[in-house]
Amino acid sequence: MKTFDELANPWVGRLGIYEPGRPIEEVARELGFESEEAIVKLASNENALGPSPRALKALREAAEKLHRYPDGGAFYLRQALAAKLGVTPEEILPGNGSNELIELLGHAFLGPQAGIVVADRAFVVYRLVADLFQAPTVAVPMRNFTHDLEAMRAAIRPETRLVFIANPNNPTSTLVEQDEIDRFMERVPDNVIVCFDEAYIEMVSPERQPDVLKYVREGRKVVALRTLSKAYGLAGLRIGYAVAPAPCIALLNRVRQPFNVNTLAQAAAVAALADEPFVAQSYELNRRGLADLCAAFDRLGLPYVPSFGNFVMVKVGRAGAVYQELLKRGVIVRPIANYGLPEWLRVTVGLPEENAAFLRALEAALAAAS
Ligand code: PMP
Repeated sequence: MKTFDELANPWVGRLGIYEPGRPIEEVARELGFESEEAIVKLASNENALGPSPRALKALREAAEKLHRYPDGGAFYLRQALAAKLGVTPEEILPGNGSNELIELLGHAFLGPQAGIVVADRAFVVYRLVADLFQAPTVAVPMRNFTHDLEAMRAAIRPETRLVFIANPNNPTSTLVEQDEIDRFMERVPDNVIVCFDEAYIEMVSPERQPDVLKYVREGRKVVALRTLSKAYGLAGLRIGYAVAPAPCIALLNRVRQPFNVNTLAQAAAVAALADEPFVAQSYELNRRGLADLCAAFDRLGLPYVPSFGNFVMVKVGRAGAVYQELLKRGVIVRPIANYGLPEWLRVTVGLPEENAAFLRALEAALAAAS
């Protein structure tokens, strides 16, 4: 009798597994906390404010229609996005989180002879998806925790199909700016598709937000990925979208499941996109929270990377031990040894009281772990 492993595609057993932030319920259970309220989760770059209230209202209304299949073409959501972004609905594809769109890009474009170029400390999902399609990955060292676009361009080979640029990047929270992007786009060969993953773009101050949609409008080989998981507070619903020239979207439509975005997610997303006050509030909260965290890191003499996202990377030394000590004190952050950064932790910006609770726990954890 053969085992499941012997029956599987041989590369599947070797695939890496994405390690998410620890869920609150799990930590409460394992560490014996009486209530989940006692726990502060700053581990998954979620929105501290909760979901957009307008989205919640739309979601309740849409729940009445859950006996029906979703609109497989996401008509209203694509209309709303097109109007907001100044592109056509044919240039938009919603997905079950932007993670799904990364996988769809793999389905459409990657294979053993069709690989990717990424930065070595870019969001890990690009590599995981490449591995899924047995596509070779070229990982280019970052410079100062930032994508080195010149080196990435030089790393493009004839078999490269996709270049991923997370902007801002997770976990490093760094940004590549318009002039660097424009220089890169001037010289990038036409045999590659450049994917700008803009999951955190709403957290960047408006004057520094690069415009890559102009390249989509020009019909260049560019895909922008966005999500409602962060600024709009809808991570649990799973809703993101790709913006790309219509011929690219047409291909992605062929490789997706017919109802990849559920009814609730579509309705909530339409309402959330119109909730500009909520995004503005999220931005402000984040800006202040980052300032408070970084001021405290300065005080404690802990190096950190200035952040363009809703999270910040801080160097604490023995990060694995500090992480465990923080957990014991009911604070969940993210260790990032899997990114080759065993001395660093990634901390999501929370509410002011959550940030304060984290900082108190951090001082105690640093002492306990030393
Ligand atoms: N891209 C980046 C850079 C991210 O950090 C994340 C979330 N961790 C995602 C994409 C995926 O977001 P989602 O699938 O929730 O839209």
